[in-house]
Amino acid sequence: MSSMMQPQIILLKEGTDTSQGKAQLVSNINACSAVADVVRTTLGPRGMDKLIHDDKGGVTISNDGATIMKLLDIVHPAAKILGDIAKSQDSEVGDGTTTVVLLAAEFLKEAKPFIEDGVHPQNLIRSYRTASYLAIEKIRELAISIEGKSLEEKKSLLAKCAATTLSSKLIGGEKEFFAPMVVDAVVSIGDEDRLNMIGIKKVPGGTMRDSFLVNGVAFKKTFSYAGFEQQPKKFVNPKILLLNIELELKSEKENAEIRLSDPTQYQSIVDAEWNIIYDKLDKCAQSGAKIVLSRLAIGDLATQYFADRDIFCAGRVAEEDLQRVVAAAGGTVQTSVNNIIDEVLGTCELFEERQVGNERFNIFSGCPSGHTATIVLRGGADQFIEEAERSLHDAIMIVRRALKNSTVVAGGGAIDISRYLRHHARSIAGKSQLFINSYAKALEVIPRQLCDNAGFDATDVLNKLRQKHALASGEGAAYGVDINTGGIADSLANFVWEPAVVKVNAINAATEAACLILSVDETVKNPKSESAQGEAAASAMGGGRGRGRGRGMRRR
Ligand code: ADP
Ligand code: MG
Repeated sequence: MSSMMQPQIILLKEGTDTSQGKAQLVSNINACSAVADVVRTTLGPRGMDKLIHDDKGGVTISNDGATIMKLLDIVHPAAKILGDIAKSQDSEVGDGTTTVVLLAAEFLKEAKPFIEDGVHPQNLIRSYRTASYLAIEKIRELAISIEGKSLEEKKSLLAKCAATTLSSKLIGGEKEFFAPMVVDAVVSIGDEDRLNMIGIKKVPGGTMRDSFLVNGVAFKKTFSYAGFEQQPKKFVNPKILLLNIELELKSEKENAEIRLSDPTQYQSIVDAEWNIIYDKLDKCAQSGAKIVLSRLAIGDLATQYFADRDIFCAGRVAEEDLQRVVAAAGGTVQTSVNNIIDEVLGTCELFEERQVGNERFNIFSGCPSGHTATIVLRGGADQFIEEAERSLHDAIMIVRRALKNSTVVAGGGAIDISRYLRHHARSIAGKSQLFINSYAKALEVIPRQLCDNAGFDATDVLNKLRQKHALASGEGAAYGVDINTGGIADSLANFVWEPAVVKVNAINAATEAACLILSVDETVKNPKSESAQGEAAASAMGGGRGRGRGRGMRRR
């Protein structure tokens, strides 16, 4: 440890592993490329799906970049950033998660030869930022506004956006069926910001086409006691009472202790309990409500009581569902049954209990404030419905974004042909010209990958696209990959549309991530975190020095 001649300065704890400089940067870039290679093949309508199973035996089949990245359980510290941007893209705009990962990795890949040649990362970073700024400006310029159109027109335009999102998913075949449903759901919640106001209920069985939209709330019949079947199951314009109290006769808890001097008093205590619950039930019935929903249990006594009075009740309603009922039917959740005034009761046009597959559903439709919608999703295998739900989520987000920002751009890689950037680069003297050109080239990864995934000759298609986009008149700017013929086509005319915000956000996030990774030239790993993160982390960190497993992921 110690040297006789020179005292050694120990700065970091023993066992600390540091690696720095160019080698570290290149190793980080390699790890990111490895991650991108995993999701690469899922891009676009002809993309493949991934089946991921975790150590608990759960199986997920997905095409969604964010879902895959989350399940991959990446341990490489730099590559983790890609997982984070996929997540942020998912929460910001909901779609374009594969796109953002591919772009970031491609920016880095283009940067790699420069780094190896000794270019200082800061020069690259500066040029990349400029390039992204220019690219986004151009997208904004090319975007088409849907503002000022009538609702019907808007709806059909939004349905096109939803269909584009869905076309790359497992349920792509049914996009014509689901796209209008998604649009109706989003339009019906209006300005409501809470996304969970659109409920998605999954009922295995049947076919996808048995799925339906409820303009209001629907939830699975809750657990019920005897007597429930005697309750009416259909009401027109009922009043709805929402509670957060238990309507149950409490049996004594084990630790309850009652001291009685006279055995006859026992009956009075039992009576008191009965009186309390009957008092509560009377008040509920007197309120005029025909439907009683509670977040807590409604016991057998109460169920029978309500049945005798032609009132419908459901206990243990999930919080989310109850919130949706509040949003749709009005009213407020009561924590006491005293003083129930009319204003706290909700209402809807029609309530009914309906059989859906093997399940029974409580459906509230025609709600006055109507800030909710529920999609009841049918289909075969569990994994299939799960993926369908994720896909619908993407589509819902996209429609919401398009509705809010109201600009769309051509999809199919049209926006990624960056003639503008290349053109601009030529006007710059100095190294920056090369960097911006590389950035422009990296953007083309989207159309290239769309072709690769569909089995087309990417070089051929890209050459055609570049030629179209170079037309002086600018009329070719909307041309993208034609997924049906293997050639090129006007994406706008083909209704392959995406909200501009998807692209803007993807480019911003990917550039930020790439710049972040480029700005890291040293990784320090202290011994403690190593033992905490386990051996997998250690080997992944050493990826560049031959110890790692090379792909930046834990081996199964
Ligand atoms: P992401 O997770 O990034 O949304 P997707 O697998 O959904 O990835 O693929 C989206 C890409 O597929 C977008 O670039 C979009 O323009 C393109 N795309 C979607 N539908 C079509 C289509 N019908 N023809 C050509 N490209 C399409
Ligand atoms: Mg998508």
